[in-house]
Amino acid sequence: MPDFPISTTSPITFAAPLPDRADVVVIGGGVIGVSTALFLARAGHRTVLLEKGRIAAEQSSRNWGWIRQQGRDPDELPIMKEANTLWRELAGQTNVDIGLTQGGVTYLAPDQAALERYAAWLPHAEDLGIETRLLTAAETADLIPGLSRTYAGALHTASDMRAEPWVAVPALAGIAAREGAQIVENCAVRCLDVGAGYVTGVVTEQGRVATSEVVLAGGAWSSLFLANQSIRLPQLSVRATVAATTPLPVVYSGGAADDRIAFRARMDGGYSLAPGGFHELFVGPSAFRALPKYLTQLRADPFKTRFFPRAPKGYPDAWSTPRRWDGDMQSPFETMRVLDPTPNARKLQELKSIFSALFPGLPPFDFISAWAGMIDTMPDLVPVVDRVAALPGLTIGTGMSGHGFGIGPAIGRILADLATGQAPGHDLSRFRLNRFSDGSPVTLGPAL
Ligand SMILES: Cc1cc2nc3c(=O)[nH]c(=O)nc-3n(C[C@H](O)[C@H](O)[C@H](O)COP(=O)(O)OP(=O)(O)OC[C@H]3O[C@@H](n4cnc5c(N)ncnc54)[C@H](O)[C@@H]3O)c2cc1C
Repeated sequence: MPDFPISTTSPITFAAPLPDRADVVVIGGGVIGVSTALFLARAGHRTVLLEKGRIAAEQSSRNWGWIRQQGRDPDELPIMKEANTLWRELAGQTNVDIGLTQGGVTYLAPDQAALERYAAWLPHAEDLGIETRLLTAAETADLIPGLSRTYAGALHTASDMRAEPWVAVPALAGIAAREGAQIVENCAVRCLDVGAGYVTGVVTEQGRVATSEVVLAGGAWSSLFLANQSIRLPQLSVRATVAATTPLPVVYSGGAADDRIAFRARMDGGYSLAPGGFHELFVGPSAFRALPKYLTQLRADPFKTRFFPRAPKGYPDAWSTPRRWDGDMQSPFETMRVLDPTPNARKLQELKSIFSALFPGLPPFDFISAWAGMIDTMPDLVPVVDRVAALPGLTIGTGMSGHGFGIGPAIGRILADLATGQAPGHDLSRFRLNRFSDGSPVTLGPAL
């Protein structure tokens, strides 16, 4: 297994020459951009994928690796069901073991109130024939033996899966390249070329690519990229810390979380641990501007967000990050090849003691790695997947709000269809861009 997460020191794997022209240019080599490029190439379109750093080096190799239907927004659920099918198919189309395992996902309810909140989500699963169940306290203890804590019960979806993100997303890029996508790492797109109100190409640090269709899948950088094109997107990013343990005996082969910790088994025998429901926001100019859109989320505070007055230098919303530049100037995307936040040291210590106390029967363990990722989020916790009406030729797939890894392949399939004039096969009205400007109320996704 390669080192994880992927970073600037990881070798360059994809170094196709930059073509002069393409049918579609995809910006961003995370799970969304990679999946989009894969389905575009599969449909026979001349496809170029441009990544400023390394494939999957940002959120897409730093996430927990949960591929879950459980707790999703009802409008995401049909798309997530499709993603589950696609993950199984794609795992069979690569000779890399991506660690795809149907281990289930379980939300442990510390009290009756949490259990009732989980129960309220069950009808969404029933509507789509997903076999999510509410477990009793005794069933929960049977499912995950060795727990020291007694839970009121749990929400459990046996068909949910896991995979190793730092292996899986580069493997999907390998399939895309094999099927004809030209993938160029270390190549930032500075801005779009626009003529007579239409997209005519992209300007990269290596030169121009002519195209009439661009898909922006820039993760935490999308709103900065769009602001330079005078398109408003109220997207922010929060830091989330993760640690990987040394191998331990199996207590549960899926992913589980309570109010203090999330854990999931990895294919190397260790567990990935993360604080339960805890995020950190570095306040910058975009956060100030977007504040009114986030009031609903701030009041609900589903992730117990902690605030810092400023982001480190070079971050998308740092006070010193340029907001405007031209194609002949170095852009913020080249200045920061890989957004690689320092993990929260105090949280790492806490994770160790919480996990040990939760499973007193486990032997002592160490962390073999610890990292953080910046989760790009939207005010209502669901993504933007849409054509930009104001700029024909531009399609956006971003703001996955902390759950884009699992759903990635299906969102990529949809974006490929949107960019090439095909019917997307799902109702995407919940994910439209203009919901933030047309006076619609902010309706929070479940945040479960
Ligand atoms: C700690 C953590 C845990 C998570 N756990 C889960 C989970 O268990 N399950 C789940 O489903 N999701 C999870 N997520 C969320 C998930 O990882 C993200 O939603 C998903 O990876 C987003 O993919 P993306 O392709 O949109 O963005 P990213 O993976 O961030 O990729 C965007 C890419 O675009 C590139 N880019 C940006 N601008 C430019 C430019 N101008 N030119 C060229 N390249 C550019 C960036 O370098 C980056 O590589 C988690 C996230 C984190 C951080």
